[in-house]
Amino acid sequence: MTKTVLVLRFSAVGDVVLTGPAIHALRNAWPDARIVYAVKQRLSHLVEHNPNVDEVIALRDGEGPLSYARRLRAARPSVVLDLHGKIRSRILRALLPGVRKVVWHKRDFRDTLPVKLALRPYHASMLFADRYHAAVEQVVGHELPKGKLQYFLGPDDLAVADAALRAAGIDPQRPLLGLSPGANWATKRWPVERFAGLARRALERGLQVAVQGSASEAPLGTAVARLAPGAVDLSGKLDLRGLGGFIARCAAFVANDSGPMHMARALGVPTLAFFGSTDPTMFDFRGHEVLFAGIPCAPCSFFGRRRCPRGHFRCMLDLTEERAWGTLSPLLSAGRLPLLSA
Ligand code: SF4
Repeated sequence: MTKTVLVLRFSAVGDVVLTGPAIHALRNAWPDARIVYAVKQRLSHLVEHNPNVDEVIALRDGEGPLSYARRLRAARPSVVLDLHGKIRSRILRALLPGVRKVVWHKRDFRDTLPVKLALRPYHASMLFADRYHAAVEQVVGHELPKGKLQYFLGPDDLAVADAALRAAGIDPQRPLLGLSPGANWATKRWPVERFAGLARRALERGLQVAVQGSASEAPLGTAVARLAPGAVDLSGKLDLRGLGGFIARCAAFVANDSGPMHMARALGVPTLAFFGSTDPTMFDFRGHEVLFAGIPCAPCSFFGRRRCPRGHFRCMLDLTEERAWGTLSPLLSAGRLPLLSA
C-alpha cells in the first residue's frame, strides 16, 4: 500500500522554505510515497509547485482545528511528520489518533533557558535544516543523504514580478540588485540608512536597485528610495508569487535574517545576509555571504528582540556600510547576470 506522509508546517516563510531539503530527502528515500503538506493558506504558494509535494491541504483563515483535522484525516496519512512542533500542530496530532507521529526537535532544551535568561549567547549545535532532516530520518528509520535547498517558482511568478518591475520603471532583463531591509524584529534589522548607502553605490555603478518588503515594512522602502534617488520601492506590491519572481530576477540580493533571505538562497541568487542578535550558524551560507559582528553578547536571542537589551546595538552597528559593500561586490560579479566586471 502506498504510504502517505502528512507534513505539518504552517508558518513562517523562511521556516517553510527550509523544510525543502528534508522533503527532498524524503522523496528520494520513498519515491512512491504520497507527500501531503499542511500549511497556512496565505503561505501555500511556497510549496504548491514543489515537485516533491503531491498535495497541499491549506489551513484556511479562521478555520478551526476540528474542521481542519477532518480534512487532514481524509488524506488517510500513514505517518504525521510534525515539522511545526507548536500548539497548533500538537492539537492536530491529537485529532489524528492511530497514526504514527514523528515530531522535529527544534533545539536542545539545555540551550533554551540560559539564552532566555541572558546568561549566555546562543550557539546552534546543528543547522536548522538538519534538524528537519533528522526528523525525516526518524520517519524512514535510517540515515539518508541530505536533500537540496531549492525554491520552486509557480508558472506565473516571473510574469507577475516583471509587471511590477516594469510599472516601477525597472527593466527585468537588465542587472538588478534586490534589497530587503525588513525583518520581524528590530534587532534583526541592519540600519536602513546603510541599505540606502549600498543602493547609492550600486546606482553610481549603473545598476538598477529595487527594495522589497511587506506593506508594514513600507517605511523602510520609502526611506531607501528617498535616501538613494533612483532606487525603486516595491514594498507592499508583491505577493508570494511576485516575491519569488522578483528575487529570481535579481543578480544579487541583500537581506536581514528573514523569509526573503531564505527564499533567495533557495533560488540560488547570490545573497548577502546581515545577522545581529540571531545565530548565522543555523544556516548554510556556502555560495553566499553573511556578516556577523561576533561581539561577546551575540547572538542574544533565538528570534530577535524589540530592542537591544544592552542599549548599544553593536551587533548591527559594527557592521559598516564599507564592509558590506566590500562583501557584496564579489557577489555582484557571481550571479545570473554579472553586474560588475571582476
Ligand atoms: S548588541 Fe544588543 S541586540 Fe545585539 S546581540 Fe548584543 S545584546 Fe543582543
